[in-house]
Amino acid sequence: MEIRTVGVVGAGQMGAGIAQVFAQAGYEVSLFDINPAQVEAAIGKVRQGYERLVSKERMSAAEADAALARIRPAPVLTDLGALDLIIEAATEDERVKNRIFAELKPHLGPQTILTTNTSSISITRLASATDRPERFMGFHFMNPVPVMQLVELIRGIATDDETFHLLKGVVEKIGKTAANAEDFPAFIVNRILLPMINEAIYTLYEGVGTVESIDTAMKLGTNHPMGPLELADFIGLDVCLAIMNVLHDGLADTKYRPCPLLVKYVEAGWLGRKTNRGFYDYRGEKPVPTR
Ligand code: NAD
Repeated sequence: MEIRTVGVVGAGQMGAGIAQVFAQAGYEVSLFDINPAQVEAAIGKVRQGYERLVSKERMSAAEADAALARIRPAPVLTDLGALDLIIEAATEDERVKNRIFAELKPHLGPQTILTTNTSSISITRLASATDRPERFMGFHFMNPVPVMQLVELIRGIATDDETFHLLKGVVEKIGKTAANAEDFPAFIVNRILLPMINEAIYTLYEGVGTVESIDTAMKLGTNHPMGPLELADFIGLDVCLAIMNVLHDGLADTKYRPCPLLVKYVEAGWLGRKTNRGFYDYRGEKPVPTR
């Protein structure tokens, strides 16, 4: 089997980036979101992404036009069913993801491979609710997708070798590098990264440092390109909280309890960059710490 057509479900930060890299690599991409305005916005973001590559001479204008033309908005989810590969990149909520796979089920082609970009939810459990756990995998891209080199490949307990090897081939074709992770809560990157971010939020909550001092300390003290609070805003505070909850529930260890201050920001709807406010306020010219 060769993968040519790709359906992306969810046109948020991740869906837009995924559509961009797949269309650039020559795949025909259909993009669906429950909110059609998100699809329009995502296509606009992809266009800007290609324009940047053209200005840096990493792509010709003709290649950019051709890649953009390979991305089509899908008016309804079920339009994606017959494609070769589906990448679910909708909101990090197990009920949302289950509903998407359930709605797709009667429309799937016999060969269609299902994947999810979940940051933390059990691949085996998501797979078991579909009609094809053997053709189901975790396909975990990093943010921003066009820039980050890694893709975590996570096999569920039932994933067959053919699916795994096909997806490894896809990762190579889009010019990225795969790391294999076992299907345990939050896999590798987020299992290590999110507790660090959560600890940075505790450090703020307990008054050990301000937003600015925590980010400066970690940037200059550990050579991280972004401070942990800046990074949390970039990831999305709702996504951070969802991952901490999965670690806490899945590993039943109090060391993973989400910081109450993180919960408070999410309750306020201050979700980071995507809502223009999180640990920083992005509404002015320069980000200003909110604490
Ligand atoms: P986001 O909030 O930017 O986008 C989610 C999109 O899903 C929204 O546009 C929303 O309208 C859409 N959506 C919600 N319900 C839907 C449905 N039923 N059908 C179709 N679309 C629906 O979130 P994001 O940051 O792009 O995250 C998406 C997924 O990628 C999550 O599973 C997340 O854990 C994962 N992920 C996120 C990051 C990150 O840094 N943000 C990194 C890796 C993986």
